[in-house]
Amino acid sequence: MALVEVRDLKMYYRTLRGHVKAVDSVSFDIERGKAVGIAGESGCGKSSMAISILRLLPRNGEYHGGSVVMNGQDILKMPEEQFRKDVRWKQISMIFQGAMNALNPVHRVGDQIVEAILEHEDVSHEEAVSRTKDLFDLVGINPNRFGEYPHEFSGGMKQRAVIAMALACHPDLIIADEPTTALDVMVQAQILKAIGELREELNLSMMLITHDLSVIAQTCDSVVIMYAGKVAEYGSVMDVYVNPTHPYAMGLVKSFPNIHAERSPVRSLPGFPPNLIAPPTGCRFHPRCPLADEECMTVEPPLREVSRKKHYVACHKAEIVEQGVDIWAQ
Ligand code: SF4
Repeated sequence: MALVEVRDLKMYYRTLRGHVKAVDSVSFDIERGKAVGIAGESGCGKSSMAISILRLLPRNGEYHGGSVVMNGQDILKMPEEQFRKDVRWKQISMIFQGAMNALNPVHRVGDQIVEAILEHEDVSHEEAVSRTKDLFDLVGINPNRFGEYPHEFSGGMKQRAVIAMALACHPDLIIADEPTTALDVMVQAQILKAIGELREELNLSMMLITHDLSVIAQTCDSVVIMYAGKVAEYGSVMDVYVNPTHPYAMGLVKSFPNIHAERSPVRSLPGFPPNLIAPPTGCRFHPRCPLADEECMTVEPPLREVSRKKHYVACHKAEIVEQGVDIWAQ
């Protein structure tokens, strides 16, 4: 059984102009000890899904159905107090977008992690300090820097400290929202390596949200490609990257430069993501899709398994795209 089963999850934002359908019937699994990447353009619902799983909705966020089952229990139905005590930090923790600013500048870095441990676990202050120093060591920070303030840390060290904080209560799953976006490429590579090693050492599951397909290729086992609040394609990284079967996924993969391929201009996808207050009927991608026909404009394509096992695609024409035709060639 998967560690987390997200099923038909719907989360909308209430606005004066109507509901923004940010997460709309999303389903996928996170296996124990594995990493799943969530990719897609800005505004496709990646971060909204993360906060939906962690029940950190803003005031205008509303669940409109679905479930998130973890260890056999629907965590969306738990009383808030039980969720806060038993799940958040202990079973699922999060590395937020903009982690460089996630540390409080007027508190010492070590103390901020100690505080997180004391808040969620019944341990003495000495034990929390000792565990924090161990965590510093684990993520590659000298434990002697326990008493320093965030401004004394480099960008990479701040990011490592935020990862240490996410590990503080031994979670089963870490949700990392764009964890390396603010870092230069050298530090990004070091952080990704550190995350990979920690995952292996601690048998951690991870949900990694990013718009950078190369980061997912480096760190994840499977990938969910989202478009306009829905899953467009979902499968192993190898299947989706080598045989992208949804036109949108194919467009994303082809818009990434490939150093092993012949030199050719990098392509971009035409058009823009839709307004999620009134998304297009049928397939939400149809206004941008070169294969769109009458059926695409009127009938919503279900997410279904294609010829490769555990490779799911929401497209009426998946069998045509599967044949390897480059539909974005012109
Ligand atoms: Fe394109 Fe139709 Fe497939 Fe949507 S269902 S991606 S419009 S071919």
